[in-house]
Amino acid sequence: MTRSGVRSLIERHGILPTPQRIEIAHILLGRAQHLSAEQIIDRLKAADSGVSKATVYNTLNLFSERGLVKEVMVDPVRKFYDSTTHPHHHFYNVDTGELADIPDDQVRFEELPDLPEGMERESVEVLIKVRSRG
Ligand SMILES: [Zn+2]
Repeated sequence: MTRSGVRSLIERHGILPTPQRIEIAHILLGRAQHLSAEQIIDRLKAADSGVSKATVYNTLNLFSERGLVKEVMVDPVRKFYDSTTHPHHHFYNVDTGELADIPDDQVRFEELPDLPEGMERESVEVLIKVRSRG
């Protein structure tokens, strides 16, 4: 995605497009991917960017609040930012720490529980944790 494409995407989500936000969005939203805050910080460093860690964390929170990215918690201390924002399923490799999408049509539900009184379903997302055998 071009920087002007990133800028207009940010604006469409009601976010002021500061240079730092554009830089972070450019890294994360270029393609379908899952990055942790630490991975984004590493990429910014590699690109000699002066964006601070605090700015990265604040910006990712803002992006997530505004629906520009989706947060995926794989365990209580590990969170990924997903550039694909609609509900979908994931494999999480506990050996490598990698998160990968599962195509929607590869997960089917035979039966789901009755919802609590007065509630409607918002989404159903599956996280399958895998590790290498043996
Ligand atoms: Zn995903």
